[in-house]
Amino acid sequence: MRYDPQPKASHFVDGAYVEDTAGAEIEVVYPATGEVIARVHEATEAVIAKAVESGRRAQAEWAATPPRERGRVLARAAALMRERNRALSVLETQDTGKPLQETLVADATSGADALEYFGGISAGLTGEHIPLGEDWAYTMREPLGLCVGIGAWNYPTQIACWKAAPALACGNAMIFKPSETTPLSALKVAEILIEAGLPAGLFNVVQGAGSVGAALTTHPKVDKVSLTGSVPTGRKVYAAAANSLKHVTMELGGKSPMVVFDDADLDDAVGGAIMGNFYSSGQICSNGTRVFVQKGLKDRFIARMQERLGGAVIGDPMDEDTNFGPLVSARQLEIVQGYLEKGKAEGARLVCGGETLDRAGYWMTPALFDGVTDEMTIAQEEIFGPVLSVFEFETEEEAVARANDTAFGLSAGVFTRDISRAHRVISRLEAGTCYINSYNDAPVEMPFGGVKMSGVGRENAKAAIDHYSQLKSVYVRMGRVEAPF
Ligand code: NDP
Repeated sequence: MRYDPQPKASHFVDGAYVEDTAGAEIEVVYPATGEVIARVHEATEAVIAKAVESGRRAQAEWAATPPRERGRVLARAAALMRERNRALSVLETQDTGKPLQETLVADATSGADALEYFGGISAGLTGEHIPLGEDWAYTMREPLGLCVGIGAWNYPTQIACWKAAPALACGNAMIFKPSETTPLSALKVAEILIEAGLPAGLFNVVQGAGSVGAALTTHPKVDKVSLTGSVPTGRKVYAAAANSLKHVTMELGGKSPMVVFDDADLDDAVGGAIMGNFYSSGQICSNGTRVFVQKGLKDRFIARMQERLGGAVIGDPMDEDTNFGPLVSARQLEIVQGYLEKGKAEGARLVCGGETLDRAGYWMTPALFDGVTDEMTIAQEEIFGPVLSVFEFETEEEAVARANDTAFGLSAGVFTRDISRAHRVISRLEAGTCYINSYNDAPVEMPFGGVKMSGVGRENAKAAIDHYSQLKSVYVRMGRVEAPF
């Protein structure tokens, strides 16, 4: 099965494709060529109302469905996603421009992992019995109701599944709004869930820009909002959700540190920094974009990195030998190029890369900066593109203090052969998702999320259950009630 990028309609609501051409048209552009490959329409008020109404209706029945049956539906959806991995990966590549070499192993597959994992634990989600002498209490784990998921454009399939899987496993319904830049893949996730037996209305996809997201996050009948996006959007969505005290999960941006000590294995550290700066052309929230390298290793690190960057195969994303694709949009390329200019102007040394390519699409080569200091703009702001900055340090104390000197706190990594130092340093780094002698692994079994300005709540693992369910406590008196009068 090979998906036509042209969707059957813009939205997927109440178990079927839905169109309303009254909504503004959104062009879907293939980033590798700049060609328009599909068109969708923004959700109108009528589409949003139908998504909310069908979501609430379906959720009431889903909550009463035995969790084991809920889990079975998710497991079937996971199997369908795996069977269709190649077709889904091609579509993801068309949506995002990421090389097929990546999408084949990182997108529908990680979406399937989430569906499988949460399908598997659905039946085991229980409350507890609390003995109180003669009396006792128990807790029940209940769904939140109707959840809204809002996605960024870098991992459209994965983000849809990371939010839908725990939400559905806990007995909720979800309305998902993909980024307007990458609207296609989530529609296929909806199709597959329905084919796997998910009752209509439980996973609705509506298209649109921030205004549609805003309409959903302020909707009185929505109980929870889970956003993956930038800090400025996170602030707006958090504030909007506060009005009606909705539950929130915020997966936001980062400026994460990677600390490489003198004793690290050089190739592992360079490999980690490549995974943490250039995978998906650097458009990953958890990237370790501030690479602190100890003085004794720094020159060798730079030389080895430059050499290995020469191995980047930049070309047709559909060619499985290509391992470095375009940026997602003309706008993103412009933003990243702006940061490159700022870096140079503020005195950082561009060792290699950063050139735009004279071809259609949004291409630039991976960039490596040396001599970056903490106050430079490229050291402080999230670039969200293929730009690696190297900072030199001397002592562990200094590295930890400088690594933590940021408002963000999504991820952090350390490379060293000294195991005590590895754990000591990681325990002092202010970040939610950390790595020792590795970078950017995100298995569904491990909680993912940030501290400080990088987020609220956790996705994946058992931790996600706490963010898609709530406890009801029940006190049970076994004897007579004693009242003062
Ligand atoms: P944005 O913050 O621009 O957008 C995220 C989503 O929010 C989009 O769907 C967007 O719609 C929507 N949106 C925008 N304004 C509002 C609003 N007022 N109310 C509700 N929804 C709104 O992020 P990008 O799409 O540019 O993605 C890049 C950012 O995402 C980076 O900062 C990156 O770090 C972060 N990110 C975080 C991850 C994490 O797990 N921590 C993972 C991946 C990315 P539209 O764009 O269609 O207008």
